[in-house]
Parts: sequence; structure tokens; C-alpha cells
Amino acid sequence: MIAVRNLTRHYRMGPQTVHALDDVTVTIRRGEFVAVMGPSGSGKSTFMNLLGCLDLPDAGRYRLDGTEVAGLSSDALAAVRNRSIGFVFQSFNLLPRQSAIDNVMLPMVYAGVGHALRLEKALAALESVGLGARAGHRPTQLSGGQQQRVAIARALVNDPLLLLADEPTGALDTATSLEIIGLFQRLNRRGITVVLVTHEPEVARFASRVLQFRDGRLIDDQSRDPEIAA
Ligand code: ADP
Ligand code: ADP
Repeated sequence: MIAVRNLTRHYRMGPQTVHALDDVTVTIRRGEFVAVMGPSGSGKSTFMNLLGCLDLPDAGRYRLDGTEVAGLSSDALAAVRNRSIGFVFQSFNLLPRQSAIDNVMLPMVYAGVGHALRLEKALAALESVGLGARAGHRPTQLSGGQQQRVAIARALVNDPLLLLADEPTGALDTATSLEIIGLFQRLNRRGITVVLVTHEPEVARFASRVLQFRDGRLIDDQSRDPEIAA
């Protein structure tokens, strides 16, 4: 589903060039659960931004579900992003004054879905993450784990092919991290492809594949049987 060939992203900083991503080639099949690891500055966020169509490479190719992304205009890129990709962040990125269900409905507003269908799909998404009873709560009335569930429901609501998560458990305690990784596992078993960045080996062991980055390069790629979280 994801075919990345010789993907390269440089940043020019005055006289220096930072090789944020350097000649990365990798294929990710539909239904995989991939953890992305590596030290700070190793290129993980750059890689995720490219996979998420938030950024374009300086060189190389990226085919997502049959579409060559690298040459698209920014409008076409935004369309691919809205149709095919859900994003989850370390800091949840919920609108603080909006209820859980309003937060979850937001991507459908951009997608032009009518109000009744928005409500129905947002409630179904909240139920799928175990938060049907909290639809009217604002983020401040929810725990960190519950806020991350709302963010995951928001990422799922347009039925993406791919769920990208940048340190989704980085702000959570260990027990809550396990709940959230268990939720990713359940979503993955229902067919969604998951790629998540984590620093924590305790989180990565629930993935079926681990990519290791260092200095902008993909230095290791291991598949194994994942542990089952819940
Ligand atoms: P990681 O997510 O693994 O911490 P990043 O992909 O964020 O790594 O960064 C890789 C390298 O690229 C780092 O040296 C970082 O400072 C640099 N970098 C990332 N984004 C930018 C940018 N917008 N401008 C300049 N340098 C950047
Ligand atoms: P994380 O590693 O937690 O995903 P960020 O994505 O915020 O953190 O940033 C990763 C690295 O990329 C940091 O070292 C940061 O300094 C660098 N970076 C991100 N954006 C820029 C930018 N616009 N200019 C320079 N460096 C950047």
C-alpha cells in the first residue's frame, strides 16, 4: 500500500545541509502495524510528514494506494490526505472549547458531509473507542487517555486507509499507554494500517514490524509476532 523509493528530504540551514531523510526505501503492506523508532533528530517526524502528505520529498518516490504522491500539487496532496490518512499526535490536539463529538465531527465538516450523517458517524467513531457515553464532554473534562481516544475517533471518522501516530502514548502513564496501544491493535486487526512513532520499547513490542532510523537513514527493519495488549 505504501511504496517509498529512495526518499530524500534535505534542509538548507545557511551553509549547512541537514539530511533529515536520506535515501529511504521501504514497502508497507495493507494491514501492517509498524513502529518507527530512533533517536531524536534521526528523521522519524520527517518520514511521518512525508507519509502523511504534509510535506514533499526533494528526491525519490512515494506511492500511496496506487497514487504517486511526490509530483502532486498542494491541492491534490490535501485531497489525498483528507481521504486516505488519519493523524494522531502526542498532545492530542483537540479543540479545548468543543465537545468530544464536535472535535470528532470536524474532519467531516472539511469533507463536506451533511450534519445528520456527521453526528451519526462521529457517535459511531466515539463508540468504537469506548467513549460513546462521553460525547458531550469537553477535553478538560476527560482524562489524558480519554482525550487520546477522542483524537483517535477523529482520525478514524473519514475511514482512512492509513493511521499515522506520532508518539501517541508519549504523554500518558504506563497503564493508559497500554490501553491506547491495545486500541491501536484492535483497529489494526479490523484492517487499518498503522504506522506509529515511539521511543518506548514497551510500546513497540505490540507492533508486527519495527523500523529503526538513524541520521536520516533506515538502518533496521524487523518483523516479528507482536505481543497482544488486550
Ligand atoms: P525526529 O523526528 O527523529 O526527532 P526529525 O525528522 O524531526 O527527527 O528531524 C531530522 C533532522 O532534520 C534533524 O536534524 C532536524 O533538526 C532536522 N529538521 C527537521 N525539520 C526541519 C526543518 N523544518 N528545518 C530544518 N531542519 C529540520
Ligand atoms: P518529535 O521528535 O517529538 O516528533 P518535533 O517533530 O517537534 O519533535 O521536532 C523534531 C526535531 O525537528 C527537533 O529537533 C526540532 O528542533 C526539529 N524541527 C522541527 N521543525 C523544525 C523547523 N521548522 N526548523 C528547524 N528544526 C525543526
